[in-house]
Amino acid sequence: MAKPSRKSASEPVATLRFWGVRGSTPTVDKATWRYGGNTACVELTTPQGARVILDCGTGLRMLGRYLESEPESSRIEPHIFVTHYHWDHIQGIPFFSPLYVEQNCLQFYSFRSEYLGRDSLKRVFEAQMAHPYFPVDISAMSARRNFTEVAGGDQFDVPGARVKATWLHHPQGCLGFRFDTSAGSIVYATDNEPGDPKLDQSLRQLAEGADIFINDAQFTPEQLATTRKGWGHSSWLEGVKIAAEVGVKNLVLFHHDPDSSDKNVDNILREARDKFSNVWAAAEGMVMTLGDSNLDVVIPAVREGLRRDTHFRAMVTGFTDTGMAFEEETVIRESAAPRTAPCACAATSSASRPKPKKIARRWASCSRSSCLPRPKVAPE
Ligand SMILES: [Zn+2]
Ligand SMILES: [Zn+2]
Repeated sequence: MAKPSRKSASEPVATLRFWGVRGSTPTVDKATWRYGGNTACVELTTPQGARVILDCGTGLRMLGRYLESEPESSRIEPHIFVTHYHWDHIQGIPFFSPLYVEQNCLQFYSFRSEYLGRDSLKRVFEAQMAHPYFPVDISAMSARRNFTEVAGGDQFDVPGARVKATWLHHPQGCLGFRFDTSAGSIVYATDNEPGDPKLDQSLRQLAEGADIFINDAQFTPEQLATTRKGWGHSSWLEGVKIAAEVGVKNLVLFHHDPDSSDKNVDNILREARDKFSNVWAAAEGMVMTLGDSNLDVVIPAVREGLRRDTHFRAMVTGFTDTGMAFEEETVIRESAAPRTAPCACAATSSASRPKPKKIARRWASCSRSSCLPRPKVAPE
């Protein structure tokens, strides 16, 4: 099991933050609030500080607001990877506020679709904002945008990471990406159905020995074998098999089905953990910090409305302004919060992130024990 531990100030660190974890379509029903309803969007910060965005589902809107709130937001220059053009991976683009700010410069990477031809992603931008689908057209986007076409087998660099792309088995095509950094390796392979021997093999090569393997887990194994066969997705069991076969260290179940309630995802996670101990179910707000020798995971508390009062112990470690390392045990209590609070846990709330002096390194609370990564947090 990944052990949370203190990292030295000089240790290279890569950080993953999940802004959207749902597949197919956003959900707003309460039964899905805990894991979250926004569609695919993950932020990777490389050890060199470059910001990589993986997919542009509806989670991208909140990420845009966060980026603009950062002290260094005067010029936003992310590298944005779009795995494919299904709605749940592009729908956040028109709502990504940094696109409307002139001094920003965004690098996009995606593949040439046989249905869209050259400049596929540019065409997607235009089509999304064409009349009568959106109130303003693409000329309103004043940020500089550069587009790079990527194909399976390509390898190239972004600051702080070597990138490798691989085709996945998905209707109309999809790319999976691997990021090798000095802090470890991250593989993002969502929207993939097992069953194509060649692509099954290339996915295994992509995931070989990865520290973090984010994989499509939309369906149950039973659905995948019957009613959802041919829909282009995978199951937790396939992810577990790949992880065990190729020496993945941590598996993240991603792209939850819109009809999967939080309880369903809990059950999926429980079943997966019976077969492979280092499994996580992606949740909006979850942060994974990858260092040289270990992985720290902070899981957001339950959302307002589903929240119960909680009372738990947590270890807080990090560095002071003067660079002194500290570690302390604290007791955190949650009580009723204003209805506007996006998250019950200050340690993990994106709204509370402006340059914290302390970095929460241990598990945050969820009052439902089933989604916790073992009893690192002890409810009292
Ligand atoms: Zn999808
Ligand atoms: Zn898709």
